Amino acid sequence: PPNPGHDSLVDGNVLAAKSFARCGVKHMFGVVGIPVTSFANRAVSFGVRFFAFHNEQSAGYAASAYGYLTGRPGLLLTVSGPGCVHGLAGLSNAMANTWPMVMISGSCDQSDAGRGDFQELDQLEAVKPFSKFSVRAKDIKDIPNCVVQVLDWAVSGRPGGCYLDLPTDVLHQTLTESEAEELLASAIDGADRKLIGTEVAKSEIERAAELLKKAERPLIVFGKGAAYARAETELKKLVERTGIPFLPTPMGKGLLPDTHELAASAARSLAIGKCDVALVVGARLNWLLHFGEPPKWSKDVKFILVDVSKDEIELRKPHVGVVGDAKRALELLNVQIKDDPFCFARNHPWVEGISKKAKDNVSRMESQLAKDVVPFNFLTPMRIIRDAISGMGSPAPIVVSEGANTMDVGRSVLVQSEPRTRLDAGTWGTMGVGLGYCIAAAVAEPDRLVVAVEGDSGFGFSAMEVETLVRYQLPVVVIVFNNGGVYGGDRRSPDEIKGPFKDDPAPTSFVPGAAYHLLIEAFGGKGYLVGTPDELRSALTESFSARKPAVINVTIDPFAGAESGRMQHKN
Ligand code: ADP
Repeated sequence: PPNPGHDSLVDGNVLAAKSFARCGVKHMFGVVGIPVTSFANRAVSFGVRFFAFHNEQSAGYAASAYGYLTGRPGLLLTVSGPGCVHGLAGLSNAMANTWPMVMISGSCDQSDAGRGDFQELDQLEAVKPFSKFSVRAKDIKDIPNCVVQVLDWAVSGRPGGCYLDLPTDVLHQTLTESEAEELLASAIDGADRKLIGTEVAKSEIERAAELLKKAERPLIVFGKGAAYARAETELKKLVERTGIPFLPTPMGKGLLPDTHELAASAARSLAIGKCDVALVVGARLNWLLHFGEPPKWSKDVKFILVDVSKDEIELRKPHVGVVGDAKRALELLNVQIKDDPFCFARNHPWVEGISKKAKDNVSRMESQLAKDVVPFNFLTPMRIIRDAISGMGSPAPIVVSEGANTMDVGRSVLVQSEPRTRLDAGTWGTMGVGLGYCIAAAVAEPDRLVVAVEGDSGFGFSAMEVETLVRYQLPVVVIVFNNGGVYGGDRRSPDEIKGPFKDDPAPTSFVPGAAYHLLIEAFGGKGYLVGTPDELRSALTESFSARKPAVINVTIDPFAGAESGRMQHKN
C-alpha cells in the first residue's frame, strides 16, 4: 500500500513488469541477459510465470503458438541486438500465421546509439517487416501506455506480431510509486480497445445464405482462423443443419471431429475439384488451398470468404466477402437460415459421392496402415501413435507435428477430435517450431498431454529445449521419427555432387542411428529407443500415463518416405 510521505521510487524494469501484470499477462517466454534480467525477475514477482529458454527462436515460436491457443498475445522477451534478431523468427511466424504475439526486447542506451554500443541494433527498423505495430518507450513515463498499446494491437483486427522496445536507460530511469500508479491507471483507462468485433454486415450474410441455398455441390472449408475465433459450436450447427460436407485445413482439423460423417478430408480432391460453392471460413486461399484456382478447383466455383481481415477479402475477390469475426459471422448465418436450412439429405448425390469416395480412400489407407512393417516405414509407427492418442479420450492431447514425410503422413493418419489440438509448420512451413510449440501448448492447456510427432531434422532445430521441458516438468512426449536426415538417409544421386567434397556426408544426411533419446536423459528426463511395434506401444503407454517429459527415438528405415515429402515439384 502507498505510504504517504514515503513514496518509494520504482525503475523502468518494475514499471514495465507491473504494466504487463496489470494488463492480465500470465506467462512470458524468453531468454534473459543484459539489459532485461531484472525485468524478467520483476515480472515473476508480479505473478507472471516466466519460461526461460535456451534460444529466442524457440521461445518466439512458443509465444506465437500461445497466442493462437489462448487468444491472448503470447509474450517473448529478448536481449538486444542478436537476441532481438533470433526473436524475429517467432515474430515473423506469428505474422505469417496471423497469431497475436508481442516481442519485448531490451535495447542499447539511447545516448550511445550510433556509436557501436554493446549489442547495438536499430531494432525498430529490424522488426518492421515482421510486425503490425512497433513502439519504443523513449522515457519511463511512456512505458504503461506502450504496454497497453502493443497488447491491444496484437489482438485487434487480424491478429499478428507486435514489438516493444525498452532501451537500457529507460529501464534504469525512476519515478515515484504514486506517479507510476497514476500513469498505469490512465493508460489502462484510455486504452483504445479495437476488439475483433467489427460488426458483420447483414447484407453479406444474406448474400452468403442465398448463394449457399442455390448451390448444388456446396462445401464448407475452415482453417486456423476459425479455430482461433473459437467458432466450433457455430460450425457444427451449420454443418449439421444444412448437411453440407466440410473440409478442414491442417490446423482447422478438430473443430469438427475428423471422424464426422460429413468430413470430406479423405475425399479432398473430389470435394474441392467439383464443388460449385465453397464457404471458406478463417482460411486463406493461399498455397495450402491451391489459391482457389484450377486445376485443383473448378474454374466456376464461387467462393464465400469469411475473414476478419478486409485486406484478405480484397485480395481474393470472392463472390461474397464477409468481413468480421468467424464465430459471429457463422452465428448470424445460422440465424439467417433458421427457418429454411436447405438441408442436404445424406442421400443427396453430392453428399453420397463424397462419402463413398472418402470411405473407399479410408479403407485403402487402412489396409496399408494395418501392416506391421519392420524396419519401420512411416505408416506403421504413425498408426500405433494414432491408436495410443485416440485411446486417451478427452481431453485429447495436443499434437505438435513437423517434418516433411512425418508431418505429411501424420496429417492424414492422426485423428483430431477436439478444436485447437493440432499445431504444425503452418502457413510458412516453418521447421523448428516443435519444442517451442510443445512448451506453449503445455503452458496454455495444462489439462492436456502434449505429443510431438517430429522428423529428426525438425527436432534438431530446437532439441536443446528438452532441458526446458525437464526443468519445468511439462507433460510433453516428443516422438522423433529418426531416419537419419532431411527426407531420410544419404540418397544423393551419384552424378549430382562432384568435386573435391563429393565424399562429404550429403547435405540431407545426419549421423545414422543418432541417440536422441539420450539427449533428454542427460537432463534427467526419460528416453526410449524403439524399433518394433511392441517397443513403441510400450513406450507410448508408459510415457503417456507418466505425463512427464520424454523423448521416444523411433528408428525408421532411412529409405522410407519421399524426398521433399509431398512437395517434390518445388524442390
Ligand atoms: P489455414 O492455414 O488454416 O488455411 P490461414 O492462416 O491461411 O488458415 O487463414 C487464417 C485466416 O483467418 C487469416 O486470413 C486471418 O485473417 C483470419 N482470421 C483470424 N482471426 C479471425 C477471426 N476471429 N475471424 C475470422 N477470421 C479470422
